[in-house]
Amino acid sequence: MTYDPLISRGVSSSLPAALSYWHATHQPMAQPPLHKKISTDYLIIGGGYTGLSAAITLAQAKQDVTLLDANSLGFGCAGRNGGFILSGSGRLSLSAIENKWGYAVAKGMQGEFDEAVSLLNQRITDFNMQVDLVEGPYLKLAHNVKQAEQLCASAKHLASNFNVPSTTLTPKDLSARFGIEGAYGGVELEGACLHPLKLASEYARVAKELGATLFYDSPAIRIEKQKTGYLVTTPSGSVSAKHILIATNAYTPKRFHESVDNKQFPVQSSIFVTAPLNDEQRASTGLTTPMSFMDTRMMKYYYRVLPDGRLLFGGRGAVKGKDADNATEKKRLYDAMVKSFPALKGIAMDYFWSGWVSVSLDSMPRIFVNSEASSNNAKRSAYSIGYAMGYCGSGVSFAAFAGQRLAQRMMGTSDVDLSLPIYQSPLKTYPFPKARRLALHGLYQWAKIAER
Ligand SMILES: Cc1cc2nc3c(=O)[nH]c(=O)nc-3n(C[C@H](O)[C@H](O)[C@H](O)COP(=O)(O)OP(=O)(O)OC[C@H]3O[C@@H](n4cnc5c(N)ncnc54)[C@H](O)[C@@H]3O)c2cc1C
Repeated sequence: MTYDPLISRGVSSSLPAALSYWHATHQPMAQPPLHKKISTDYLIIGGGYTGLSAAITLAQAKQDVTLLDANSLGFGCAGRNGGFILSGSGRLSLSAIENKWGYAVAKGMQGEFDEAVSLLNQRITDFNMQVDLVEGPYLKLAHNVKQAEQLCASAKHLASNFNVPSTTLTPKDLSARFGIEGAYGGVELEGACLHPLKLASEYARVAKELGATLFYDSPAIRIEKQKTGYLVTTPSGSVSAKHILIATNAYTPKRFHESVDNKQFPVQSSIFVTAPLNDEQRASTGLTTPMSFMDTRMMKYYYRVLPDGRLLFGGRGAVKGKDADNATEKKRLYDAMVKSFPALKGIAMDYFWSGWVSVSLDSMPRIFVNSEASSNNAKRSAYSIGYAMGYCGSGVSFAAFAGQRLAQRMMGTSDVDLSLPIYQSPLKTYPFPKARRLALHGLYQWAKIAER
């Protein structure tokens, strides 16, 4: 049974973990469920990167913090993603942000995106996190001639205006290195990837060592405002809290709290992992060492060579949760791999799974506190509720940073520039929430034609 945020009532603790390569290669430590009434100053709902990172930040500040997750560690995206460490979040490039809000805002956002990667690396070092971090080239590949020209122009702009160095690759450069079809040019940047489920485990370890209390298999089923804060009910317990941090991202139940209801669109992304490539396949594809790729399609394909020589290949998933594992969905993704790497035809698909990414209406994530005035100096409310979500499929570094920022905003200790769009306003409400799936189906049909 697959959880579908637009259909199911909520994440139940009885749902099985994803059948992912990550779960096959790492067993997260079981965390206890909540079976009593407790009270806390800060309650985090959702124990993926956002929630665990907020817990770390609050615990580091010696706050009284409790976290609830509906299922086991890594049930959400934290145990399902590709493990690409990207400087960015949302769906807008720095150039698109610049076009919409101007250069200063784009530079400000670049600062936040880069800080997110620095925070991740810093914590890996400071807390000796074992997350299978691997560095290697990250290639963006153009799927047609027009995109190759745009990619090249954008790379030049990013180098001169945002100091992002990259190397431009012609089709000849690519065919000298890879047995790849349908790549019309590209740019190469420095890249890094990790084991996403191990990262979640390490965040949980650190949060607990710092003093946070974690409960898993404990879904928050009701959030009630009370005179002195909030009361959150779980199936076998309850938590009274002064402040609530909602960190449920795309796994947020459809009717949960007014601050997040209909504010994001959960969209499926699917991944498969092949058997380890044999010597012949490695030689003919050029996929010999850890490296990562993303293409320029509207519905992007992303792939990486794993440290054990398998290929992880991802792209858009089915529109509905119940269709996630359909043979046609698996075949569509597999065929896309074979189209790019004909030498891999016939290689076994050892793992396949899907997860929900949170798409915001304006393609930008938000870190927002409802009861807060719009200035850092404003008097902090005694009771507040806030959220961080809408990463649009890019959150391995940014979700944890957003969790940190959310905790800082709620404590009133942040030096954050609140004029940036991700802090300034709440997530926009989808105007016709019931039509989201219909629109997505139409978009996928359109993309099929546009991407030819
Ligand atoms: C297939 C796929 C591939 C991706 N690849 C990449 C990538 O390579 N690089 C990248 O940067 N990003 C990637 N992402 C996105 C990235 O994984 C997410 O942005 C990030 O993990 C979000 O973290 P989170 O903590 O906000 O959410 P999640 O990790 O999804 O955590 C949300 C948690 O909320 C819990 N929850 C839900 N409802 C309740 C409730 N009522 N009570 C208590 N808890 C609740 C869930 O159980 C879940 O554990 C990918 C996503 C997917 C799905």
